[in-house]
Amino acid sequence: MLSIITAFGCKYDCRGCIHWNISKVCYPTTFWQNPSWQKALAMNVGTEPFSVSGGGDPMNAFNDNVDFWHYLEALCQVSNLEYDVHTSYDEIFKLVKKEKKVEATVRLWHPDVNMRKNDKMTIFEFEHLRKVVFHLRNQYVSIPEIGNVETRFAYVVDDKATIDGLERLEKEIPERCKLSYRELVPCGEVKPPKPDVDEFARSVSERRAGAIYVEQKDYNKYLWPDGTIKTKFLS
Ligand code: SF4
Repeated sequence: MLSIITAFGCKYDCRGCIHWNISKVCYPTTFWQNPSWQKALAMNVGTEPFSVSGGGDPMNAFNDNVDFWHYLEALCQVSNLEYDVHTSYDEIFKLVKKEKKVEATVRLWHPDVNMRKNDKMTIFEFEHLRKVVFHLRNQYVSIPEIGNVETRFAYVVDDKATIDGLERLEKEIPERCKLSYRELVPCGEVKPPKPDVDEFARSVSERRAGAIYVEQKDYNKYLWPDGTIKTKFLS
C-alpha cells in the first residue's frame, strides 16, 4: 500500500515523535500542488486503497488544507480508489454522520476565533474514506462509529508500555473496532519495550480477533512531500 506522508504539523507534542524529524526539513504544506509530486502519486498509487498519514497529523489545520482533501477525493472519484486516514485527532469524528458518506464541517480548527464565528459551515464529504486508523497516544480515546468505515486503533509499544496497560486497552476498545500494536520506529529518547511486554504485544492476535502486531518491516511504500518514494519510514 502506498502511504502519503503529509507535512501539516500536529497540535500534540509526543516524546520521540517522528514528525519532528520531518519538520526539520520544512516541507511546504502545498507540496501536493507540485506536478512532480502528483506524477509520483499517479505512478505509484496502483489500484488498491492508499493511506494518508505521517508528517504530523494529516487532520491538522484541516480547513487550511481542505484543498488537499478535495484533490484526493477527486483522484479517488476518477480512478475508483479509496483511502485510509491515520490520525490522532478525534474531533472530526464527533461531527460525522452515520452514513456511507462521512461529512464534517471544515474550518473547525481555524486559528482565528473570529473566522470560526463567521464560518459558513461548509460541508466536506469524506466520500472515499475506507478506514480510520486511530493512533492512540497515551490512553484509549473513544471515537464514534462512522457508517461502514472501518475503525482500527493503533498503539506504538514503547518502553512506557506495561502488560497491565495493554490488557486494559484491549478491554476498552469496542468489539466492533480492530487493534494493531506497532513496533517502535527508534526515534529520539523513546526506547523499545521490555522483552515481556514486547512478547505480550506480539501475541495479541491470540487474544483478539482481527488484532495484529505490525513490524517495521511490514511497512510499505511512502510518498514523501518532495515526491520521492521510500520503502522505510526514515530511510
Ligand atoms: S500525535 Fe502523532 S504526529 Fe502528533 S506529536 Fe504525537 S506522535 Fe507526533
